[in-house]
Amino acid sequence: MEKLAINGGTPVRTEKIFYGRQWIDDDDVKAVVDTLNSPYLTCGPRVAEFEKKLAEYVGAKYAVVVSNGTGALHCSCIAAGIGPGDEVITTPLTFAASANCVIYCGGTPVFADIDPDTYNIDPDSIRSKITDKTKAIIAVDYTGQAVKYDEIRQICDEYNLIFIEDAAHSLATKYKGKQVGSLADMSTFSFHPVKTITGGEGGAITTNDDELYKKLVLAHTHGITHDESMMEGAPHEGIWYYEQISLGFNYRMTDFQASLLLSQLKKLDMFAARRKEIARRYDEAFKDLEGIIIQKEIPESDTCRHIYVIRLDLDKLTCTRRQFFDAMSAENVQCQIHYVPVYWFPYYQHRGYEMGLCPNAEEVYKGIMSIPLYPRLTDSDVEDVIHAVTKVVENYKRA
Ligand SMILES: *Cc1c(COP(=O)(O)O)cnc(C)c1O
Repeated sequence: MEKLAINGGTPVRTEKIFYGRQWIDDDDVKAVVDTLNSPYLTCGPRVAEFEKKLAEYVGAKYAVVVSNGTGALHCSCIAAGIGPGDEVITTPLTFAASANCVIYCGGTPVFADIDPDTYNIDPDSIRSKITDKTKAIIAVDYTGQAVKYDEIRQICDEYNLIFIEDAAHSLATKYKGKQVGSLADMSTFSFHPVKTITGGEGGAITTNDDELYKKLVLAHTHGITHDESMMEGAPHEGIWYYEQISLGFNYRMTDFQASLLLSQLKKLDMFAARRKEIARRYDEAFKDLEGIIIQKEIPESDTCRHIYVIRLDLDKLTCTRRQFFDAMSAENVQCQIHYVPVYWFPYYQHRGYEMGLCPNAEEVYKGIMSIPLYPRLTDSDVEDVIHAVTKVVENYKRA
């Protein structure tokens, strides 16, 4: 057996790799520089162009581009009319922003449990959490796998709820052949550097709904409109005139970020193909590896994987997750954990959420670990990751 690096053995690789990383080429750099040399750094043509191209890509009528994925979620909650007394159902196995956005609006996040095999929100659990106060569902395509859209849509129709999709992980994923971003009432994206395409920071909301679109536009620019048909006051005062007709925020993206994203969007299909290829290789390597459980996929989801999560079968291993994680780091494969259940955080505990609320999410959390997945990984990087996982498993296998 190979001696683990953490015990003084030779690491699988000399250069550390991380769980996620952007891919920037010279043409991306040029796109940004061109915009920096143009008249518009913000509120210019690149933002509008990216909105159009993104909407086209996902097959939605509209896209509103914003400064980050969190702003996209916040604007969606504003457009959905979330306010004090309203409940919004979401998953605990997500980045905190998926729930925080409800609290920004004065509403209450309610956590439904996950399916222990797919790790996505379980429609039956959603049903069990619905009350008279429920107003919307924020479903997260965790790791990039599409949630059970049809089942959730059915619930939304039955109870008259707004369906918000946190698609931060799932750009380029398809559900029953349709792109994520065209399915829910509103879908939100993030363009943080670890996400599938990046603007440094950035976000977007896509929708097919005219009314929601208008509200999203207002929400991301102070509630201010230049559109005469929406004004109540004195529209003929002059072309300089605008009105604030609701309370919004400044969630605008700059034009140089939009130009980076336009350039990245051209590579999205290539990025997605490579992500899929690596995920397939991992699946194949780990599916029969005792001690590792792989995420199950629903057949409806054609997944562009954002993160690859292995789940340690801790009954079959002599180590803790912490020991496994540290052993991987010593092999120079830096993993990450996505995510601590949101309501475990002190902020949520202080708000009265109880431990044990979502037993499946808590159980899955104990064993999960995200291993490196990004398109720039070479085949030999991928084999190193597989080598490291296998090596650590072998060393900690229960006899
Ligand atoms: C990244 C992410 C966000 C937030 O996006 P930012 O652009 O970082 O604000 C929201 N939800 C999920 C699931 C994410 O992964």
